[in-house]
Amino acid sequence: MIEQNVTAILERLKEGNARKEPVTLVAATKTRTPEEINRAIRAGVKDIGENRVQEFLEKSDSILSCRRHFIGRLQTNKIKYLLGKTCLIHSLDRDPLAEALDSLSLRAGLLTDVLLEVNLGESSKGGYPLPEAFRAFCRLREKKGLRIRGFMAMLPHSDDRPLLEDLADRMRALFDEAAGKSEDIAYLSMGMSSDWELCLQHGANMIRLGSALFGERA
Ligand SMILES: *Cc1c(COP(=O)(O)O)cnc(C)c1O
Repeated sequence: MIEQNVTAILERLKEGNARKEPVTLVAATKTRTPEEINRAIRAGVKDIGENRVQEFLEKSDSILSCRRHFIGRLQTNKIKYLLGKTCLIHSLDRDPLAEALDSLSLRAGLLTDVLLEVNLGESSKGGYPLPEAFRAFCRLREKKGLRIRGFMAMLPHSDDRPLLEDLADRMRALFDEAAGKSEDIAYLSMGMSSDWELCLQHGANMIRLGSALFGERA
């Protein structure tokens, strides 16, 4: 099942997004075993994303070679476990985290690739509110230990398709505005199992899929 899911989605992604840009699939692997993750990697997944530092570390020795992303809320006291081990942290969601990530990266002689997380209205989640996100980007791109590669967002759970399309379009506009200022901007990480097709229609170029690849979580 995992193999068929991965194959079908990778086949679909060959078309790119609505702008014909290449799309990166990140398998969201929270709660999944190394065996399940390795099946996805053998089937063609090249990028995986964990939500929790504990799981990120526990699985490190047992998964096949791949690019490892971090997509969950990150506590500042856990940064040290991820430094130098992730290709991209999607969840830079607040200034104190940016300060800490910047100074630890500089001390380690590293440039850490990050996405700024944008909060589209779900109060339980972190992130910069959309109207503030561009200013946050301008401020944080001065940090020498960070390289801002784009933005991450989660659309709200809603059946209101025009609302979701409007939010996705506004995220793409933010991405384009930032890309006009910095050649580092490359990724708009937006789209989960329930809404990835809508997100690709509206300009996302990186999607994070869990249940669409691995089945429902227990
Ligand atoms: C779990 C998770 C996903 C994937 O969710 P699915 O609905 O299972 O596809 C994507 N992004 C983040 C940040 C997640 O925590």
